[in-house]
Amino acid sequence: MPNFSLPDTVFEAAARRFPTPFHLYDERGMRENARALNAAFAWAPHFREYFAVKALPNPHILDIFKEEDCGVDCSSECELLLAERCGFSGDHIMFSANAMPPEEFDHARRLGALMNLDDISDIETLQDHGGIPDVVCVRFNPGGAFTLGNAIMGAPGESKYGWTRQQLSVGLPRLKALGAKRFGLHAFLASNTTDNTYYPKLAGILFDLGATLEKETGLELAFVNLSGGVGIPYKPDEKRADLAVIGEGVRQEYTRVFGDPKNARVAIKTELGRFMTGPNGWLLTHAVHEKKIYRDYIGVDACAVNLIRPAMYGAYHHIHVCGKRDAAADHVYDVTGCLCENNDKFAVERPLPEIRKGDLLVIHDTGAHGFAMGYQYNGRLRSAEVLYKENGEFQLIRRAETPEDYFATLV
Ligand SMILES: *Cc1c(COP(=O)(O)O)cnc(C)c1O
Repeated sequence: MPNFSLPDTVFEAAARRFPTPFHLYDERGMRENARALNAAFAWAPHFREYFAVKALPNPHILDIFKEEDCGVDCSSECELLLAERCGFSGDHIMFSANAMPPEEFDHARRLGALMNLDDISDIETLQDHGGIPDVVCVRFNPGGAFTLGNAIMGAPGESKYGWTRQQLSVGLPRLKALGAKRFGLHAFLASNTTDNTYYPKLAGILFDLGATLEKETGLELAFVNLSGGVGIPYKPDEKRADLAVIGEGVRQEYTRVFGDPKNARVAIKTELGRFMTGPNGWLLTHAVHEKKIYRDYIGVDACAVNLIRPAMYGAYHHIHVCGKRDAAADHVYDVTGCLCENNDKFAVERPLPEIRKGDLLVIHDTGAHGFAMGYQYNGRLRSAEVLYKENGEFQLIRRAETPEDYFATLV
């Protein structure tokens, strides 16, 4: 079930204050998620969440997670700059790019970030660009298919990420010879799953592998990084992942491999993005056009440049009409943007209440990979971002682009 925690009065007040379209983010919901996550892993030695910056790269959001004792997961030069300007440094930054320009290694090392190497060849790059630190994290790709019960959750064998099992046995001793003392182990095997067994199963795999590699290489396992992937219920019939159940599942695996966490030293890290901010963001847009041909179309003032997931993945985003939450969904609409692209549709043949021009539509779950995946196709510009603060105030945390921004990079 998508997040209905904010009443329509809040959306309507925001839309009176700021021109649509814009993304509205709920500070309280983000803090609650961070606290629930920290509580679910309170049993683990040195637990830390590294918020995946790419999900919602706005410094005001990063500040919130900083206050909740989270770090950040960065994958590019600009994400490192954002983290730096927000005052993150040292082991509060995880740098986990792939196929990145080598200079980004230098930058990450200057900040003292934890380095998560995507490939065995990154060892040489790191040696030449910043040097080998005491702790190095490596990203494991088991190949084949990844399943939970009978369900195929991912195809690591087709994924560009990570090291093979054999490369770990070759590369970790090389890192040790070059001065590394300890290692971290990371894998990301399923995306957007609300299945509470995902983290526990992944953790079991990484704990066992880490223990084996410790014996094999003489390097000490510093931490296991469970990365992102815990998903959110985009559809009304989906249920939320339960962090308390997930934390307990990981604790059982931990205890099986390392014994009582009170006497163990292997730390746990996560890099959740979508789970932290996704349900706490909404794209607010007005119905500006109505058209009836072979189907009924409602045109809105947002378009795919503001939220590409439906166009790109056919992703479902729940939509409700302000003031008509309880009205019968007795009309069927395609809700579209204005791009010259027929996949510019936020909803296809969606049952909704009757929509009139001027109605305020709320598109749910845009807090992660929403604004962040924006672009400027068709001369359409990126929207504003507004934070709904815990004290009930609205704060503009990014202005909308103007035509001057569109022309700014032209030579
Ligand atoms: C995208 C990404 C994440 C976050 O994934 P979510 O599905 O948003 O939780 C974490 N770590 C890495 C390395 C990523 O690329």
